[in-house]
Amino acid sequence: MDIITDIKGSFTLHNGVKMPYFGLGVYLSKEGDEVINSVRWALQSGYRHIDTAAIYHNEEGVGEGIKTSGVPREEVFLVSKVWNGEQGYESTLKAFEKSLEKLDTEYLDLYLIHWPVKGKYKETWKALEELYRQKRVRAIGVSNFLQHHLEDLMGNASIVPMVNQMEFHPYLVQQQLLNYCKANRIQYEAWSPLMQGHIFQMEVFKEMAAKYEKTIAQLVLRWDLQKGVVTIPKSSKKQRIIDNAAIFDFAISEQDMAVLDSLDKGKRFGPDPDNFDF
Ligand code: NDP
Repeated sequence: MDIITDIKGSFTLHNGVKMPYFGLGVYLSKEGDEVINSVRWALQSGYRHIDTAAIYHNEEGVGEGIKTSGVPREEVFLVSKVWNGEQGYESTLKAFEKSLEKLDTEYLDLYLIHWPVKGKYKETWKALEELYRQKRVRAIGVSNFLQHHLEDLMGNASIVPMVNQMEFHPYLVQQQLLNYCKANRIQYEAWSPLMQGHIFQMEVFKEMAAKYEKTIAQLVLRWDLQKGVVTIPKSSKKQRIIDNAAIFDFAISEQDMAVLDSLDKGKRFGPDPDNFDF
């Protein structure tokens, strides 16, 4: 397994591409100055991975933030996702072009199917495979795919997804799915690692964070990496962006990892992949 070193460190995907295990999420970061600044601050403080999506309506700002950060494009791992309404073969190819145009870039590092839209995701996957073959994207993957979705997809796919991006935090571990992904060399990635901000009100994390002289965010983000899970916390505040990344100067003991694992309640803050209507 890859070891955890620093903010620029990575996990290796099954095709050999290195994916920085720590990145910035930009869901709800407003198009314009807010997202431009967030991306710029993140890259200037060492982040090398930005996670956006067509549906976030901020791809132009993300592109602008990268360009004005002073960090060369090839050092940034840039991720976007095809939205549900665009799924299907031809429409996905078009959506991809639109994302590239908005991001003002020649290629993506990772393109994901945002949600497993019934009756659509297999065709969508064929389009992603084609984009990968054409070298328009360095890696392809899925998001919000449970085991049965993955099994169904892989039943007639040529390429095994390289990544599965899922809601993941100590209240929603889904260890079986994590094990399944690991066994199939699908890199697991956490969305809403901070429970969309709810984690900060929870007493249960305060004591352990204090023991390590870390914030709750730092504790939980470090737990993600030690679980072998890529993580992309969102903030649009400069100091939080910097502080959230200060997780490379400590390690959580095995015993405390188990305590955090044991908090699992199967609790979602976002939609259920088996029951969404958008
Ligand atoms: P997070 O769990 O990352 O939480 C973000 C919230 O926490 C924001 O309100 C932010 O506020 C706040 N926050 C961040 N750091 C701190 C801090 N140090 N102290 C206090 N508050 C803090 O939620 P997200 O849902 O944004 O998930 C992360 C990313 O995952 C998204 O941005 C997106 O890229 C991706 N995602 C993917 C989904 C998918 O379906 N594939 C679904 C949802 C998210 P503030 O900005 O004001 O600092």
